[in-house]
Amino acid sequence: MRITRIKPTTVTVPLEAPLRHSNGVHWGRFVRTIVEVETDEGITGVGEMGGGGESAELAFKQLESYLIGHDPFNTEELKWKISNPTASLYNNRTQLLAAIEFACLDIMGKNLGVPVYQLLGGKMRDEVEFASYLFFRYPNENGEHEVQTKEQLLSHVQELKDKYGFRSHKLKGGVFHPDYECELFQAIGEKYSSDQFRYDPNCILSVEQSVKFAKETEWMNNDYLEDPTWGLNGMRRVREKISQSLATNTVVVNFEQLAENIKNPSVDVILLDTTFWGGIRQCIKAADVCNTFQLGTAVHSSGELGVQLATMLHLGAVLPSMPFAIDAHYHHLKDDVIKGGKMRYQDGKIKIPDKPGLGVEIDYDKLQEYAELYNELGGYPYDRDPKRPNWFPVLPNTNDKWADPRKAY
Ligand SMILES: [Mg+2]
Repeated sequence: MRITRIKPTTVTVPLEAPLRHSNGVHWGRFVRTIVEVETDEGITGVGEMGGGGESAELAFKQLESYLIGHDPFNTEELKWKISNPTASLYNNRTQLLAAIEFACLDIMGKNLGVPVYQLLGGKMRDEVEFASYLFFRYPNENGEHEVQTKEQLLSHVQELKDKYGFRSHKLKGGVFHPDYECELFQAIGEKYSSDQFRYDPNCILSVEQSVKFAKETEWMNNDYLEDPTWGLNGMRRVREKISQSLATNTVVVNFEQLAENIKNPSVDVILLDTTFWGGIRQCIKAADVCNTFQLGTAVHSSGELGVQLATMLHLGAVLPSMPFAIDAHYHHLKDDVIKGGKMRYQDGKIKIPDKPGLGVEIDYDKLQEYAELYNELGGYPYDRDPKRPNWFPVLPNTNDKWADPRKAY
């Protein structure tokens, strides 16, 4: 079988409300590039990637000359063809490789009539548990769904528990001063004391603020503290002073960093991202290394529509152990581009797709609708805040750069 065409389509799909984070804002919608890989046997595979609010269409089109004639079954060769570690010094294609790998696995599964998890060792479970992903949110265009105060956050948690059944909660922080966020995080921990928790300020705290936050929340039922500060050395300094486990999706995202973290530990739990690591297969290899050294693993979310969510489900299916609920932004989305609409949660879990390939099919009416919306609205800089135009953060952040929780934005 040979690849004959790479067809990328950029879409933008609305979120319930703009999501705030330490570096900026998801401006009320996600921009994602859906990539279809066509073959000479009439089978088409599908992949997906983000791009910080921008289209990746051009980058995929430029890869086409490398990929025409490639056998989609040769996924190891694919990595060396387009993303070897030294060529990447000039042209980092890790995320593009991931999206093409997803499509190739989809093609293989469809060709053989088996789900992707079957190609990767077989599933260890039928469903995967998710954590709620709590964001501070700006109100949407109707003035709804704001999350800024303690009351708003607590009612948001209750709404998500009622709607989806989550029992683990991740608060994305780094927007307001850590003392304010710590107070709100503890309020959730107190109200839902039999649930589990994790806080992730995207690396923006100082070592001292991280240690303070960890000590003040020690009494809670925490899974881990995620990326409180920046860098392997910063995380190591925090880890030396606290009792909670530390997790990362920023400083261990490749095998060199994983090796360094084993030789000189900074982090206890590695959050595997099917995109950041360059595909599902790379994540499975990394998980094997983590298991060997007794590092924890979980699955990270870099923002996803149904295609990428399927890759996270297949990864979650084959990992030998799943000590932590996995992350997804998915419940913030108002719609999807897959047939049948958004995948459904039950008791905080989503069933692993059983159809051949990734088990999701593109709904071409939806794809066209959201491609047209992208053409109308364009991209957005995900590392800027539309309501604070001249603002940008530093690491660690300084007092004049935190948002003010008393202010109406
Ligand atoms: Mg994170």
